[in-house]
Amino acid sequence: MKKTISSWDERSLQAVWHPCTQMKFHEGFAPVVIKEARGVKLFDEAGNSYIDAISSWWVNLFGHQNERIKQAVIEQLNQVEHVMLAGFSHKPVIELSERLSAKTNYQLGHAFYASDGASATEIALKMSVHYWRNKGFPHKHQFLALKNSYHGETMGALGVTDIDLFKQAYQDLIHIAPLLPVPYSHEAHEIEQCLAVAQTYLEEHHQQLSSMIVEPLVQAAAGMLFYPKQYLAGLSQLAKAYQVHLIVDEIAMGFGRTGSFFAYQQSTAQPDFICLSKGITGGFLPLSAVLTTEEVYQEFYSHDIAHGFLHSHSYTGNPLACRAALEVLNIFDEERVLQTNQSRLELLNQLVLPLVHHPRVNSWRQLGMIWVFSIDTQNPSFARECYQLGLRHHILIRPIGNQLYFMPPYTITDEEFIELVTGTLCVLNGVSG
Ligand SMILES: *Cc1c(COP(=O)(O)O)cnc(C)c1O
Repeated sequence: MKKTISSWDERSLQAVWHPCTQMKFHEGFAPVVIKEARGVKLFDEAGNSYIDAISSWWVNLFGHQNERIKQAVIEQLNQVEHVMLAGFSHKPVIELSERLSAKTNYQLGHAFYASDGASATEIALKMSVHYWRNKGFPHKHQFLALKNSYHGETMGALGVTDIDLFKQAYQDLIHIAPLLPVPYSHEAHEIEQCLAVAQTYLEEHHQQLSSMIVEPLVQAAAGMLFYPKQYLAGLSQLAKAYQVHLIVDEIAMGFGRTGSFFAYQQSTAQPDFICLSKGITGGFLPLSAVLTTEEVYQEFYSHDIAHGFLHSHSYTGNPLACRAALEVLNIFDEERVLQTNQSRLELLNQLVLPLVHHPRVNSWRQLGMIWVFSIDTQNPSFARECYQLGLRHHILIRPIGNQLYFMPPYTITDEEFIELVTGTLCVLNGVSG
């Protein structure tokens, strides 16, 4: 029998199956139905506002309803909303590909598109294997990943992801890649040790290895774990020496989050592939891309269709999404976003000090527009309770385990940042230990 359902939030618990969510946990705590979003703030049906401290899962770079991106999408909407990218092309995808290539100093000059991050991972993995096959090395089809990695949740991407919760139920379906240790300190001997393990593994297995995939500098989904750029550079050197591709997954860290346009650019690493998504459209539309080198591209160029790269999605290179992404690049260039963010860090790092000094905070770290606070807690539901309490204090935070982080839109004002810190202090004072 059809129940009579009253409010929108209750209705959201019926027909909508929410991602990354145990639906039962919503008994007595319904999802927040957002009616409007502007700048860094979300407004619900009841008129409450929330500071989006995590950029809506790390996608929103310049605030909600950013006027420039909005106008660009509207303009595109009046021209071509979509056309397939096989046999057809359009200005936004051409310009975007050229501009992305320029952002890599033309080292990765060929762009292949999809609509989400996991698909970008799949594309890079498949392209790498197919490259080696075309080159006459069909045995090079295995992957190598890092401990605590996250590259998405489709079956291929799960194979190079090291988060048990996401993987366990499906382990019989996936090819699980071996994992290399990661140095989480800047101690030279720890970095050396980890590189030595990598070298030993590559020495023994390079004939079967197609590629190594890494998140550059920050392993986001595992809890914003930072590792030194020397490790990334060292892995890149080893990959080159042993003829294994380096795939750099910039899905979370690309587009300025760590302070450089791409995170790998803070090291001397030379990727063969980079994966992009999340911030690429400023959080407006789903889009992802894999950029690769001339060397890889040429290995597919042939009279034989089976020698070409075999992968497609219906919405590959959607014009609206590409136009949004182009405007994101325009904003970066015209509004000098990297420089502006850098110039604000001294003040923002001052503004977080009340949190740094909170008795529940064990340690903290910051890189670019990411702040992470490691919290002293025995409470297994700490993250969920923080999230719920945060809403009452008008902030959207979503700690990962005991790692409480801010990854706000770059447009957050100093006043909003203070509101965020104040709200978080209230949460830490209120959440059970
Ligand atoms: C989010 C993320 C992905 C997956 O992207 P989806 O769009 O969620 O599929 C892959 N890699 C990294 C590093 C991510 O943060």
